Amino acid sequence: MNKRLNILAVALLSSFIIGQSEENKSQVKVTKMNDSFYLVESTGAFPVNSLVFSGEDGLLIVDSGFQQTSKEFKEKISKIGSGKVKYIINTHNHPDHYGGNTMWSGEATIIIHEKALGAISGAYYGLTPLSDPDDIPQIALTDGMNLNLEFNNQIVQIRPIAGGHTHNDLLVYFKDSKIACMGGLLYSDQFPAVITGGGGNAEKFIQIHKSLLDSWPKDVTIIAGHGPVLSKSEFKDYHKMITKSYQLVNTALSSGESVDNVVDKDLLKDFHEWGDGPITSTRSWTTVIDRGLNPVEPSGLKSIAERMTNVYMEDGLKTAIKEYKKLKLENSGEYQFNEFELNMLGYHLSYRDKWDDAIKIFKLNISEYPESVNPYDSIGEAYMNRGDKKKAIKYFKKALEIDPEYPSSLAALEKLRSNI
Ligand SMILES: [Zn+2]
Repeated sequence: MNKRLNILAVALLSSFIIGQSEENKSQVKVTKMNDSFYLVESTGAFPVNSLVFSGEDGLLIVDSGFQQTSKEFKEKISKIGSGKVKYIINTHNHPDHYGGNTMWSGEATIIIHEKALGAISGAYYGLTPLSDPDDIPQIALTDGMNLNLEFNNQIVQIRPIAGGHTHNDLLVYFKDSKIACMGGLLYSDQFPAVITGGGGNAEKFIQIHKSLLDSWPKDVTIIAGHGPVLSKSEFKDYHKMITKSYQLVNTALSSGESVDNVVDKDLLKDFHEWGDGPITSTRSWTTVIDRGLNPVEPSGLKSIAERMTNVYMEDGLKTAIKEYKKLKLENSGEYQFNEFELNMLGYHLSYRDKWDDAIKIFKLNISEYPESVNPYDSIGEAYMNRGDKKKAIKYFKKALEIDPEYPSSLAALEKLRSNI
């Protein structure tokens, strides 16, 4: 039932891991927009946009890109203005938007949504955080709390906008220069990414775009998190595209069609060019629309990953897996048992270089959910990062047998093959 839950979140996290093994291949391109603004396009596992605002107070960065491109990012932007970074705004809790933060540790203040704080410190239940949150100077915003920052003689408006991409997006608007940074709220050359397991909703996503269209001046410049910079009229066209494709899919799903039917019938055939982006696909867009109609029941159940993490810290992995099996047999009504729980636990172990344990968790996930694509993709990445290309290829192929369009497996296989 939860098969496709959070596929995008997982794809993004996966790509973060992929990127870490590819240190020397990063690319960062800086384009001067005017005397104050620079667009930075970093290509980690896929391209992501950042904006640098320069002036007499120093530099302000909106999104710091992938961790593995951050060295080059820092090198290149240090030549802009004073080169001193005062603020980094992270538009949300995905690693392609905050991965570079640590390059300016102790130097820059991070502005972020309060719900994204855990991500930047790498907190995960009882596991040791990846960095001490107290060491990160920060301004954390909560919903409804708008910040007008005076910087470089301009007003930078920073506003939490929940429910489109995630529950912790910040929209950044440079009022005087009429430049908007949308982060995950805009993938301008592909279908939207809506993280349904992280507070996103397709219908809400479209409403957010509509209200922004209504509020922005006609000469606004719109920086997408991913994809080309748009003018207002281009953004209007994009809005039409997502509204139309949403309506088509929504009508079909509401009349009882399944996601598979909608994809197999090629209902979005007029929108193909938007369905083969590096991150989203026709299937992922269809799936998140379906999730809006059939939300996964908000369970009051306890996290099995939390329980396992506690046991892991006390008695090691073997006992944690035993506990999982025991609880599943005895108490399946008390804990959330789904692939996402195990997948995240596996990722968090791998972030801490506990690769053997991560692989064992991914294996458990495969044995629990053999029909699901995520676990194969995740273990593929773990093997890839350990340098076991053969096993990595085997598992990515397996993932693609289940979903031939699965973006992170496709990208990983392509990288592996081009490296051989
Ligand atoms: Zn994102």
